Amino acid sequence: EKTTAVLLDSRVEAFLQGGPKKLFIGGEFVESLSGRTFETVNPATGEAIITVYEADKEDVDRAVEAADRAYRDAWSKVTPSERGKMLWKLADLIEEHAEALAQLETLDNGKPIQETRHADIPLAIDHFRYYAGWATKIHGEVIDNSAGTSLFTYTRREPVGIVGQIIPWNFPLLMATWKLGAALATGNVVILKSAEQTPLSAIYLAELIQEAGFPEGVVNIITGYGPTAGAAIVQHSRIRKVAFTGSTEVGKTIMQQASGNLKRVSLELGGKSPNIIFPDADFSKAIPGALMGIFFNQGQVCCAGSRLFVHKKVFDNVLSDMTSYAAQLKQGPGLDESTQIGPLVSNEQFTRVSDYLQKGMEEGANPLTGGKPVEGNGYFIPPTIFAGVEDYMSIAREEIFGPVVAAMPFDDEEQIADIIRRANDSEYGLAAGVWTTDVRKAHKVAHALEAGTVWVNCYNALDAAVPFGGYKQSGFGREMGSYALELYTQVKSIWVNLD
Ligand code: NAD
Repeated sequence: EKTTAVLLDSRVEAFLQGGPKKLFIGGEFVESLSGRTFETVNPATGEAIITVYEADKEDVDRAVEAADRAYRDAWSKVTPSERGKMLWKLADLIEEHAEALAQLETLDNGKPIQETRHADIPLAIDHFRYYAGWATKIHGEVIDNSAGTSLFTYTRREPVGIVGQIIPWNFPLLMATWKLGAALATGNVVILKSAEQTPLSAIYLAELIQEAGFPEGVVNIITGYGPTAGAAIVQHSRIRKVAFTGSTEVGKTIMQQASGNLKRVSLELGGKSPNIIFPDADFSKAIPGALMGIFFNQGQVCCAGSRLFVHKKVFDNVLSDMTSYAAQLKQGPGLDESTQIGPLVSNEQFTRVSDYLQKGMEEGANPLTGGKPVEGNGYFIPPTIFAGVEDYMSIAREEIFGPVVAAMPFDDEEQIADIIRRANDSEYGLAAGVWTTDVRKAHKVAHALEAGTVWVNCYNALDAAVPFGGYKQSGFGREMGSYALELYTQVKSIWVNLD
């Protein structure tokens, strides 16, 4: 039989040689001060890939020293144009190392290589290029309100200084990129902690950051656990801002702990996004859209369309088409070219999602396909579509973060009040989808949904220029677009007496 296994890039092999992977602090690769390490695991097999140094509070302190020095002595003297050039260079380097980064990401996270090649890596490249352009376009304004007086006023947009960034495991490189792009374009220095499940692509990125010519200490990348290294970032008195992507639960802890020095906080948290298919939808788009909306990245997507509302007139047909397609998706190791759906990221996530499958059955929902974890090695959960779901069930309310969709019928057609009420009946508000060919209905529904992003006749579309972030308990602050610049700048008003 023809093998479809990916042949490992020599750069990945070289990266995985030698001892534990080191922390990137002050422009150097260093061991953690404690000397402790942890393993990162290949989710397709459950076997260790390599060990990584484990940062703790004292390593965060060291990174803050390095960042502080870099901010004062080097970074503040670099012109915006040069900052932009370095960001562009970094994008070029990612492009040059695209295949190695795609493979490393797939190895560490489990996601299909087709997705890392065609989504994660190109989006990361675009993102740095987009923010490279912003570096030279950040300016204050003259407030010409002083006619008849001798006062002249203007504003400056200054960086916040030392910022801490904490990211999750679902898009390890892309999340690092979302955090770094805007922070660096606006002239901040950064301490970024990757997720303990997926540390590798951020370490590889550190090598490229070094090669792109950023002064030492401008970007510090550490690997370690949340309650130790993460909490040390959040509590550090000299870090002035923390940006976090992860669960709503941890987001709440972070907000409390950041209050110690009144750090600025931005949070991108969980979701339980409604995806609504009206009977006048173009089903040739809506059905693949709804499938991709939940099964992309094994459903480990904060904006996954995990509550699927389908009009009762078309419910059976839509669900039967979705079911036959989902049952055919090829599940396997991410490093197989033909894999369409990979394993979940970790044993913990596998257990969590398995528990939800169990809970769904106990609550009386009916899996049309999937429903049982795959036995054997690796953390595989089959694509699962639940019907017979009621709004109150936990599988319809709680974030599962796996390839599991709760499908529910609705009645509204022209009047949209009831479906809007149901769609908005959630503490989350990250994203939503609407499928209809009626342009009036599309906009009406989009306006009424309580979500930071609404996709009409598409799903999971992302672009560096378009803001992304949550309503309600999905967080606050917007990443991407010009909006992210606000997270990383502060405004100074300057008054000059011309007399
Ligand atoms: P998590 O919140 O457990 O971990 C995320 C990060 O926070 C990791 O780096 C972790 O080490 C760190 N962390 C954990 N506890 C901490 C603490 N006490 N102090 C400081 N840092 C701490 O989330 P997860 O399980 O890794 O990721 C899945 C969750 O992330 C899902 O709920 C998902 O919806 C959310 N997510 C949201 C977005 C978004 O943009 N809104 C994107 C991706 C993931």
